[in-house]
Amino acid sequence: MTPVLKNITNNLAQLFFPHLCAGCGSDIIDNKQTLCLYCIDQLPVTNFHMHANNPVEKIFWGRIPVVAAASYLYFTKGSILQHLLHQFKYKGNKEVGAFLGRQMGTAFIQSNRFSQIDALIALPLFPSKERKRGYNQAAVLCEGFSAATGIPFLNNMVVRTVSTETQTHKNRIERWQNMEARFELKSASALCNKRLLLIDDVVTTGATLEACGHELLKARGAQLNIATLAYTS
Ligand SMILES: [Zn+2]
Repeated sequence: MTPVLKNITNNLAQLFFPHLCAGCGSDIIDNKQTLCLYCIDQLPVTNFHMHANNPVEKIFWGRIPVVAAASYLYFTKGSILQHLLHQFKYKGNKEVGAFLGRQMGTAFIQSNRFSQIDALIALPLFPSKERKRGYNQAAVLCEGFSAATGIPFLNNMVVRTVSTETQTHKNRIERWQNMEARFELKSASALCNKRLLLIDDVVTTGATLEACGHELLKARGAQLNIATLAYTS
């Protein structure tokens, strides 16, 4: 196709099948982009990845040995990020997650604290939840991060398991903790001596990331780093 014809086709496609910004709905957006420049500029970047002892690292102090940890964006109610996460997690908009994963990767690779990672690991979802959603949002973030940085994403190295032990004698909170925090390392040999970056969408208490991290550290010589898209204080 000649450049002129291609341009006309693109313009017609934009007229009849408009490609819109996932943040504000504007049609002033490059075909290959997910967010318009205005919305990209609105993303509440934390810059935690540039700093040791940032609030995300402090979450894990005394709980699990983490080399470096950071969240890319602040999560606040009513923000553009809340809107984007809703599209990504509940409206089936995978591209939003892949885009945010690429943005996060592009930012993190600039920091010498995250530039020496050997492999990306996605925090696993319960299989039933993943079937319902059609994808694991952490894996989509990993794919974007990997595309932007060239760091390989190792999928299905660790899985989430549902406890089969009888729980009737446990109280509600114990049952919840027991269910939330069970992971099983599937391929320890593939992770030996690797600097791993465990990725999830949001960090709050860090309990789930901690439990999964302990499982990853069963691989001999493995080092744990943690990154999440969003941080809620
Ligand atoms: Zn926009």
